[in-house]
Amino acid sequence: MVLVTGLKEEYGRLKLYIDGQWKESKSERTQPIYDPGKGVPIGEVPFALKEEVDEAVQTAVYAFDKWSQVPITERVKYLFRMKQVFEEHLIELAAVNTQNHGKTLEESKGDLRRAIDNIDSAISVAYTLAKGENLDQISPGIDEYMVKEPLGVFGIICPFNFPIMIPFWFIPYAIVLGNTVVIKPSEITPIPMDYVMHLLEEEVKLPSGVINMVHGSKETVEAIISHKDIQGVTFVGSSPVAKYVYKLAGEHGKRVIAQGGAKNSIVVMPDADLSLTIPAAISSFFGNTGQRCLAGANLIPIGKIHEEVVRKFSSAAGQIKIGHGLDEKTQMGPLVNERAKNKVIGYIEKGLEEGAKPVLDGKDVKIDEYPLGFYLGPTIFDEVSPDMAIARDEIFGPVASVIHAENLDEAIEVINKNTNYGNMACIFTTSGRNAREFRRRVNAGNIGINLGVAAPAANFPFAGRRESFYGILHAQIDTVEFFTDKKVIIERW
Ligand code: NAD
Repeated sequence: MVLVTGLKEEYGRLKLYIDGQWKESKSERTQPIYDPGKGVPIGEVPFALKEEVDEAVQTAVYAFDKWSQVPITERVKYLFRMKQVFEEHLIELAAVNTQNHGKTLEESKGDLRRAIDNIDSAISVAYTLAKGENLDQISPGIDEYMVKEPLGVFGIICPFNFPIMIPFWFIPYAIVLGNTVVIKPSEITPIPMDYVMHLLEEEVKLPSGVINMVHGSKETVEAIISHKDIQGVTFVGSSPVAKYVYKLAGEHGKRVIAQGGAKNSIVVMPDADLSLTIPAAISSFFGNTGQRCLAGANLIPIGKIHEEVVRKFSSAAGQIKIGHGLDEKTQMGPLVNERAKNKVIGYIEKGLEEGAKPVLDGKDVKIDEYPLGFYLGPTIFDEVSPDMAIARDEIFGPVASVIHAENLDEAIEVINKNTNYGNMACIFTTSGRNAREFRRRVNAGNIGINLGVAAPAANFPFAGRRESFYGILHAQIDTVEFFTDKKVIIERW
């Protein structure tokens, strides 16, 4: 039943990666790391001390001096090798990702494909966007030009839900442009990046100190942001922490990209093609066990199509096969940990208290083979009103709230007013007019038209608005501007 063999069952206490070496943290504070499918610990993560963060940053400062002088035509060669390493180790990396996160192996492969896409995109940057501009003769005998320079050391702070993809929304761009980085993976899913760093060390052989990795949580993040030699930080995670990081970075005068949480709506117009809509909605709401910032959360069928959509959607959801992500039959894995599972159960109970109508209840799902695993099934509530907590809060699990709207205007009003999130919104329709109205009037960063997960390709910004995003420049290709500074030279000879 298991697709991949040879995986380690125990990873021990993870080390920090500083100056090209694996170092035992002196910290006494640790947290167990789980295989959520089995519900058992498979390792331990130390919470790095402030002095260890300092060591990582100092190392990166030292490395920056030399790395920034390496011609970009040489730096880009490391990315070609990095891409090859990811391709060659794709299955093994996907399996480790699944083991620590819980998502299916196919979903893990998808994460890795997105990481590779970002390496490709950063390679293209070396030949295009890294270049500056010039204008001859802006005045008699005077020319003016602009070059983009790397800045130094950046902190990269990551969430649990895409343990490899999200670090690679930033790392390849930062380093190809001549910066060095200190990355902090999520303390819940740190094993995949630990694995990646071992592979990069063995097979890419970047100069020491170009990529450093520390572990931990709040205090580690604060130590990174407040460090005098950090130029800026990228953050992806929940909105309250994104807001805090944005503020703290501002106080310390640092550049920041802070991407936050989401509560995404999917509108189904009466003219939608349901043979396309239902499978796309199922994948949006329940893919990655609902733990995606681009997951559907509120389903809004319009007018008379409501009943048919709810019936077909819940029938398809009820057939999803739940199990360990490494089981080839599994279509939906567990929640990432007990806390996440309990949070989702809390919202299911709240939905019942608030008077929403349960159509499918995934609370009591059990997987006989893995009784300790953090499993829940798809849950669907109908007759949800926009002011209920299950329609407003980010639940981050496999729960769908179905809200009734009479027409598109009403749906857009719900989307724009009932939450402060603005990450993604999607519409299913066969009318270009509806689609155009929707994309122009909805206040969200990523819009899907006849698709349920509007994930921008690597060579586009990963957008987000309102409390889903703090800053100006976004992840992926936008980081070219973030990781460089413009210098203008006005010249007369
Ligand atoms: P989280 O906010 O709990 O943690 C994110 C990171 O912040 C982790 O590295 C964690 O160690 C650190 N952290 C936690 N508490 C902190 C604090 N008080 N101060 C400083 N740092 C702190 O998020 P998560 O649960 O790991 O990830 C899920 C969240 O990420 C969801 O809200 C999801 O929507 C969001 N997300 C957003 C995007 C996007 O692009 N907008 C992408 C993926 C995930």
